[in-house]
Amino acid sequence: MRVLYYCDHHDIPLGAGHKFPMEKYRLIRRELERTPQFRFAPGPLVSRDDLIRVHDAAYVDAFLEGRLDASQVRRIGFPQVPELISRSLSSVGGTLAAAERSLIEGWSGVLAGGTHHAFRDFGSGFCVLNDIAVAARSLLDRSLVRRVLIVDLDVHQGDGTAAIFSEHPEVFTFSAHGRNNFPFRKQQSDWDLEFENGAEDDAYLSALAPALAQVFAQEFDIVFYQAGVDGLRSDRLGKLSLSADGIAARDRLVFEHVARLHIPCVVTLGGGYAEPIQDTVTAAANTYRLADQALCAMSATFSRPSQ
Ligand SMILES: [Zn+2]
Repeated sequence: MRVLYYCDHHDIPLGAGHKFPMEKYRLIRRELERTPQFRFAPGPLVSRDDLIRVHDAAYVDAFLEGRLDASQVRRIGFPQVPELISRSLSSVGGTLAAAERSLIEGWSGVLAGGTHHAFRDFGSGFCVLNDIAVAARSLLDRSLVRRVLIVDLDVHQGDGTAAIFSEHPEVFTFSAHGRNNFPFRKQQSDWDLEFENGAEDDAYLSALAPALAQVFAQEFDIVFYQAGVDGLRSDRLGKLSLSADGIAARDRLVFEHVARLHIPCVVTLGGGYAEPIQDTVTAAANTYRLADQALCAMSATFSRPSQ
């Protein structure tokens, strides 16, 4: 049984007219509940100690105490309510728990996370805390891994992640995203692959495949895959024109490398704002099914005690 962490039980009251489709998280879990190989666990709340491995302590404390100012709250895009605190802690804790589990079981995932627009000392673009950065840093600090790869295929650049790890050669950040989309002031990842508006499957995959092959030629101890599906044609915010098959082909490219190299893998969600939202839900759920297809054989060898 594959464990996936969730945090959709912490519900944020967004009010009518908010453009963020909060219901997608619960719908993705419901979709995956129909697949027998998954078991679901609530994301544990991450500790303040783990958060400040990456984030500025003053920012973390202001958030935890509900003291972010109006401009900080506006930049995040969610109301400053108690539910946002518990949900954010559970999302980061879920990614960290999935990362620890992946070291034993080969891969695990979180049905949340991928909040890659969160910087060290501020949040942005629906992202409060950078779950992947916190999880990666926690494993590195505890000497559980030495080199980390972050593959971010959300249609928006992983700018917070890139900035957090810009001076850290032990973490390689790869981001493939739309050139003319948020964030409009880009950060520098270790590798940025940019696409023009309207890019379709062929153009996307023929650029992504050789780039991934080159990235995965390096040695890593763990891979975090931010698998945002907002590159879908029906996405309201994505500006690319990928089909559901194209997204699946993209996922397979990543998982084939992971399986070949036999390294632990953590899968997180990311953006997804399709109209209808079911397009996002179907594509995102499919990512986790494809991960299990590609990586289930590998996990058996991780579970065995080392010789
Ligand atoms: Zn996005």
